[in-house]
Amino acid sequence: MSILLTGGAGYIGSTVASILKDEGEEVIILDNLTRSKKEYLPNGIKFYEGDIDDISLLEKIYNEEKIDAIMHFAAFIEVGESVIEPYRYYENNFSKAIKFFNYFIEKGIKKIIFSSTAAVYGEPQYIPIDENHIKNPTNPYGMSKLFVERFLESVERSSDVYHVALRYFNASGAYHNFGENHKPETHLIPIILEVALGLRDKIFINGDDYDTVDGTCIRDYIHVYDIAKAHLLAYRYLSNNKQSLKVNLGSGEGYSILDIIESCRKVTGAEIPVEIRERRDGDPSTLIASSNTAEAVLGWRREYLTVDAIIESAWKYHKEKFESSK
Ligand code: UDP
Repeated sequence: MSILLTGGAGYIGSTVASILKDEGEEVIILDNLTRSKKEYLPNGIKFYEGDIDDISLLEKIYNEEKIDAIMHFAAFIEVGESVIEPYRYYENNFSKAIKFFNYFIEKGIKKIIFSSTAAVYGEPQYIPIDENHIKNPTNPYGMSKLFVERFLESVERSSDVYHVALRYFNASGAYHNFGENHKPETHLIPIILEVALGLRDKIFINGDDYDTVDGTCIRDYIHVYDIAKAHLLAYRYLSNNKQSLKVNLGSGEGYSILDIIESCRKVTGAEIPVEIRERRDGDPSTLIASSNTAEAVLGWRREYLTVDAIIESAWKYHKEKFESSK
């Protein structure tokens, strides 16, 4: 029996697919490569190219494979873009996703692992944020993910289809040759590392007037390897339990943008010039996870315990990528 994994050429999806394969699971990837490339696919995994709402392609996959579970990663992930182009986010992340899920639910698939996000919470009412915290997304990206969670909850009410929604905080770092490589890049750590490599002049900080210790936004950075391991645990959980679960994946520690820049300076030895610009629309000031559920229910343990260790792994990846592109 196989796990059908969408978005397996993406940053988190490719890391998860690779780790599942290493752990002896059968994995199949579906990806349309719109925001990725074939070369990012992990080796030795069967790949179908196409859209998640292409029913004739889903039919082909269903007829050719024996699917036990779905892990759905394929989505747009940029907060700023989602504010400017909300329709694309609701269409791609919500409408297409429920069509995709519905196809496989009607075929009898019972286990769904869904890539959700800390952006479902919005501005925190308390810290650390646990899974019961009120959901009030401050941007269409978070809302599109929350809608899918609501859909999966409705499905569960009327069937025996169970899901684990993994709410990632800030995925970062690199695992072997799987690293953060979005085109265009909008995420903080890879952009700072591009400055360290001389590929950009400076890092622009999106606002320094937030109600935080140094005025810049605080996030909870979690290594992509630790995120990937949680997917394996979620799959095992659904194989043994008839109950859905919402799970935060974070470290429980918050770092401001200035903290991250300082850590990148330490790790790279580069100066990293900074310029403050306007706030980015849709950004909550602080997101820090309580990961008690992941630890207590899934038995999850982080291996990357410091932000320096996360940035070191990302730096190694970016340096190698840069050297090989010369
Ligand atoms: N950020 C920034 N400059 C950049 C990219 C990001 O100041 O060039 C900020 C962003 O506004 C947010 C934090 O860094 O406050 C983390 O952003 P990222 O896009 O990496 O992840 P998100 O929290 O949006 O998922």
